[in-house]
Amino acid sequence: MKILIGDDSLTQRVMLEAIVSKWGFDAVLAEDGQQAWDILSAADAPRLVLLDWEMPGIDGLEVCRRARARQDRDPPYILLLTARSETADIVAGLDAGANDYIQKPFENNELHARLRVGARMLDLQRALIDAREALEFQASHDDLTGLLNRGAIMQAAEQAVERTRRSGRPLQVGLLDIDHFKQINDTHGHPVGDAVLREAAERIHSTLRSGDLVGRYGGEEFLLLVNGEMTDAPAFCERLRGAIADRPFEPGEVALRVTLSGGFVAVDPRDDGSVADILAAADKFLYQAKTGGRNRILFDQPAGAATPAKKRSAG
Ligand code: GH3
Ligand code: MG
Ligand code: MG
Ligand code: MG
Repeated sequence: MKILIGDDSLTQRVMLEAIVSKWGFDAVLAEDGQQAWDILSAADAPRLVLLDWEMPGIDGLEVCRRARARQDRDPPYILLLTARSETADIVAGLDAGANDYIQKPFENNELHARLRVGARMLDLQRALIDAREALEFQASHDDLTGLLNRGAIMQAAEQAVERTRRSGRPLQVGLLDIDHFKQINDTHGHPVGDAVLREAAERIHSTLRSGDLVGRYGGEEFLLLVNGEMTDAPAFCERLRGAIADRPFEPGEVALRVTLSGGFVAVDPRDDGSVADILAAADKFLYQAKTGGRNRILFDQPAGAATPAKKRSAG
């Protein structure tokens, strides 16, 4: 484990480096508070910190304050080194954000024990953060496909529509639905159906540009949020359609031909309809794509053009 040693005394630095190295830590040295702060602010900074209180420029206490003010995801564990012994000083050090302190002169085995506590706390902290992040991921993603789940993509849709109304940034909302998916399940079994869903999700995702989003809206239905003008809408829809239809799926022994249908609408920034209204409009196009023969994606342009007459097919 890396440890940052911040001390303005060369003798102290050399001595501390020698003993912590003996205990298996990788020492990173700072000659003053500013340097310590710079090291703590850089990427991949040490998380265990041994800091002298008295230093020119910004002192150890100030480094503690700054580190706490930053509210890191994974904050450092700071052990303050001080010659001060007054209770008031100790309180001030802990209040500034030090996790612990040790009084100079100290015994090496006490410093070692306190560093072990720090390392243990950091391990615990990291494990809690990992667990929380795993839970956050689980709560927002679909188990089967790894895409955003319905709740997460709906929330993203609300935010994206809101942003379009604020800034006029062009946004298209689309619904895709795999054709005759029930037949795939019925003919080849549910596990094959699952594999097809996973691969379809992957293929749809890889057609999108970064910043565009796709989520699993329902069983074999996907909700897409696509940024930018749909000037290339026919090409975009054709790419999406082709990503599924042009290459067979091979979830096991058999090669399956899979297709999907879809409906896209451009969000009109001047329109104040709800996301549900926008989805209903996209769903209307999806329905038309289904009744029109499937394996096609229909789309519409803004300015109230959600009328079937204006639709264009790329399928
Ligand atoms: P259409 O072309 O009209 O969309 O026909 P379809 O058969 O795709 O539509 P339908 O709504 O009749 O059937 C959807 C099927 O998707 C039914 C359901 O069992 C299946 N399904 C939903 N979620 C999953 C899943 O997670 N895994 C598998 N294997 N099947 C699923
Ligand atoms: Mg000093
Ligand atoms: Mg469906
Ligand atoms: Mg379907």
